Amino acid sequence: MKLTREFFVDEFRQVDNETLLQRIVANRLSDVAREAAAFVLAERGVVGEQLERDLVGAAKSSIRTSSVTNQCDHCGASVALGAVHDEGQKFCNTICLERARLDEIGIEIPGNAVRDHARSMRFAPCPRCGVRDNTVEAPATYTVVSYLTGARSDSGTAICCRRCGARHARGAAIVCALVGWWSLPGLFLTPAAIVQNLRESRRLDGHHEPTPELMLEARRALARRLLAERRGAASAAWSPRAPRRARAARDSADTPPQRSRDAGRRSPCR
Ligand SMILES: [Zn+2]
Ligand SMILES: [Zn+2]
Repeated sequence: MKLTREFFVDEFRQVDNETLLQRIVANRLSDVAREAAAFVLAERGVVGEQLERDLVGAAKSSIRTSSVTNQCDHCGASVALGAVHDEGQKFCNTICLERARLDEIGIEIPGNAVRDHARSMRFAPCPRCGVRDNTVEAPATYTVVSYLTGARSDSGTAICCRRCGARHARGAAIVCALVGWWSLPGLFLTPAAIVQNLRESRRLDGHHEPTPELMLEARRALARRLLAERRGAASAAWSPRAPRRARAARDSADTPPQRSRDAGRRSPCR
């Protein structure tokens, strides 16, 4: 059967608006299906600003969903032990919780504002070595640590210059080579992690625009600032000392968290 636009239009006419919006923001529709979904929503009067508002609402509610499994609602790692619970959701730690909340706010920030901020981040001094001449990016690292009954693989990004990023990736490759092998899953995970680290140490060469990883960090930085402003505005409504407090909150929002390494994806393997 050929999956034509007409086929999807007929399918989507049987589906309510909320489900259609959720499917669009999940980003798993083909171009034809996406076009058909937009067509059906337009038939129902959901167009222009209304459509944009509804898509933002659907994207936010998808971040607020909680799986029935024991996986972190942000990164998908197992949270069998020591989960952090917040408003009906579970996270592997407070970093994932903060990132989920920032990603929710970040949906409201226009793409061109994020791009401008990412470009300004690229030419700021490196947060690690302080050198201004090396372009700042968000390089990733991959580590595998074996223990008696299994192995744990981690990946994450750090905001730093390419030179620091390459050094960091080589260090992670050495860690994998030393402690990654000593379990059955480690035997399979370690070579892949070492290759990814070595690739990462060269990946950022020749990039003239912010990578998607840096764009994500830029969006979160702006979301953190927006959140601080909102908290400042909320406290201004009830406290005579609020303007000073709001300024302090905004200043602290511009400072990245101490632990810049993302708890990105953690997948314990037993
Ligand atoms: Zn997590
Ligand atoms: Zn550096």
